[in-house]
Amino acid sequence: MQIKHKQLYLLCFYQNTYESSSLIDRFFAIKNQKKHHRPAWVEINLGRLENNFVLINADRPRHLKFLTVVKDQAYGHGAIEISQAALRAGASYLGVVTLDEALQLRQNKIQAPILIFGERSQDEIATSISNSLTCCINDKMIALSAIETARKLKKNLTIHIEIDTGMSRYGIRWDEAAEFITFIAQIPEFNFEGIFTHFAMSDETDKSYAMLQLERFNTLLSEIRKKDISVQLLHASNTGGFLDLPMANFDMVRMGILPLGVYPSKVCRRIPGLLPVMSVKSKIAAIRDLKIGDKVGYGMRYTAETPRRIAVLPLGYGDGYPRVRNRGEVLVHGKRAPIIGGNAMDAMMVDITHIPESRQWDEVVIMGNQGEEEISVHEIAELKGSVSYDILTGWRSRLPRIYVRGID
Ligand SMILES: *Cc1c(COP(=O)(O)O)cnc(C)c1O
Repeated sequence: MQIKHKQLYLLCFYQNTYESSSLIDRFFAIKNQKKHHRPAWVEINLGRLENNFVLINADRPRHLKFLTVVKDQAYGHGAIEISQAALRAGASYLGVVTLDEALQLRQNKIQAPILIFGERSQDEIATSISNSLTCCINDKMIALSAIETARKLKKNLTIHIEIDTGMSRYGIRWDEAAEFITFIAQIPEFNFEGIFTHFAMSDETDKSYAMLQLERFNTLLSEIRKKDISVQLLHASNTGGFLDLPMANFDMVRMGILPLGVYPSKVCRRIPGLLPVMSVKSKIAAIRDLKIGDKVGYGMRYTAETPRRIAVLPLGYGDGYPRVRNRGEVLVHGKRAPIIGGNAMDAMMVDITHIPESRQWDEVVIMGNQGEEEISVHEIAELKGSVSYDILTGWRSRLPRIYVRGID
């Protein structure tokens, strides 16, 4: 069996009829997985994910627990797969935002503690209790109704209280929280496990606002320590905080983007060796030769000034690529090929005049690396005037997710 692939897929969970055409892929594809029929896909490299966890674990102080944030399908990577890898790597907790996200994890036999961020409405409490989900309780009304529900179900609810130290999102204001915490601490129906806050800006060079938030949090904590209230889990940092604010580690850090191999900003600390887990790839669906004066795409935004050779890629803004006009690049045979014209919902055209070796159905990298060249998620975010988080979560579900364990 000869292996000609640049990447040797040791394991391919999902078989894609276009993508996994080599013998080795078919050999290792796990049976009974959903087949996909599309020459464009999101590739999730579980080998890189595991390696990122190894590197983060080596970087992490021993005592420091971590929660892996898997909200929004682990930023588009697949909540189940990322959760399983995180738990194998030693995560103490998983974090999500909706009750449905938490239930999906439970339905897939994930028994680890799950913290649901944000506010729960009254009608979500019973399901949260019966599935042993940890909720944030940040006001008295919902606390009272949760106590009642817990009594009815004869089961305690594990809770964390979020402290708003300056983001004005969720949580109780730091300067009004002490009394509420005292009230919660004496409720027998609650397993009052944690107190946390969230930084508005932890990954930029200017840490002054994060330090103010930290000071407010610490002031509150010393206030409640005086009242002899103690909880097991104090936590504040997201990825930016974990990288740059070790004084805010407390008992646990909450990391979403870092295990995925993406940094939240250009300036935060680096952990050498981390690699992005997600790539977006496609195949060349058609190749065309343009004559002088030929137009490309809707709105005729590109005119060939000289004869050009172009490739048509079968994905567009309907798959989550930003809407662009004559901007952005992809990788073909390890070289950058510029997008020409405006991209459509389902297609985009790239100039491959300088890559004469390219053929129809050759693999193209939209996001990720090919050889030494890389199109980073940050590069695509710039096209959209947005952040990496937005791009990662923005790849639509109609792009199949292919799980590989590749050696690049
Ligand atoms: C999303 C989220 C995180 C994770 O942030 P990253 O920057 O991805 O590490 C942490 N905590 C809360 C409350 C969040 O909503």
